[in-house]
Amino acid sequence: MLVQGEAESHRTTFTYNSAVIGGHLEGNQICVHVSETNSLKEWNGTSTALNPDLVLVPNLVVNSAGLSAPALAKRFTGLASEVIPSAYYARGCYFTLSNTKTTPFQHLIYPIPEDGGLGVHVTLDLNGQVKFGPDVEWIDSIDDISRIRPKLSGPGQPPVDFVIQGENIHGIPGLVNLFGIESPGLTSSLAIAEYIVTRFLG
Ligand SMILES: Cc1cc2nc3c(=O)[nH]c(=O)nc-3n(C[C@H](O)[C@H](O)[C@H](O)COP(=O)(O)OP(=O)(O)OC[C@H]3O[C@@H](n4cnc5c(N)ncnc54)[C@H](O)[C@@H]3O)c2cc1C
Repeated sequence: MLVQGEAESHRTTFTYNSAVIGGHLEGNQICVHVSETNSLKEWNGTSTALNPDLVLVPNLVVNSAGLSAPALAKRFTGLASEVIPSAYYARGCYFTLSNTKTTPFQHLIYPIPEDGGLGVHVTLDLNGQVKFGPDVEWIDSIDDISRIRPKLSGPGQPPVDFVIQGENIHGIPGLVNLFGIESPGLTSSLAIAEYIVTRFLG
C-alpha cells in the first residue's frame, strides 16, 4: 500500500496483531502496556489482571483508538477519570437503490441535519449507483466494530466537537487523547495530525 510504504520510508514502524491494553505513570512519564492480540482472546477488556507482553516508554502517545478511546483512557492509571468524557454510540447504515434502470437523481442531495447525523443524503458513485445514508440508530454499546460513530453527546443533546486533550487539560506530558473523532474525522485526519505535531511535539 502506497501510504504505508511512504510512512515506512519516513521511519514509521507498524505493529500488527497487538493491542494497547493500558498504561501507567512513572513520575510524569507515560508508559504504555502492549499485548499480542492472541493473548487477549480470553480477556473481557475490563479486568485488571492482565500482564502486558511489552511496556513502551514513548515520548508521545496519541490515544486514537476511535470507539475504544474512552475505554482505553480509563486504563491509563494516573489519568484523572474526570477528563474522560462519557461515550455514546450511533450506528450509520447505507442503502442501495436497486431495481431501477434509470436513476431518479442527477446530483448529490443533502437534507438538513438530523439529531446525531448530517441527514440521510443521496450520493451517486462513479457507476451512477444511488446510495442513501448514513442513517442514525442510537445503540447502547459497541455490538459490532463497524459503522458506529464514537459520539460525545447523546440523543437530543447538542453536538460536541472533536476533543483533542493534551497536558494542558489532563496534566500528563506526552499523552494526547482523541475523543469523539466521528465524521468528518477521516477528512480531518491530516489536519488533526498536523495540529498534534505542532501543538504537542514542537
Ligand atoms: C457511518 C459513518 C460514515 C462516515 N462518513 C464519513 C465521511 O463521509 N467523511 C469523513 O471524513 N468521515 C466519515 N466518518 C468518520 C470516520 O470514519 C472517522 O472519523 C475516522 O475513521 C476516525 O479515525 P480514527 O483513526 O480516529 O478511528 P478509527 O478509524 O476507529 O481507528 C481506530 C483504530 O484503533 C484501533 N484500536 C482500538 N483500540 C485499540 C487498542 N486498544 N490497541 C491498539 N489499537 C486499537 C482500531 O482497531 C482501529 O484500527 C464516518 C463514520 C461512520 C461510522
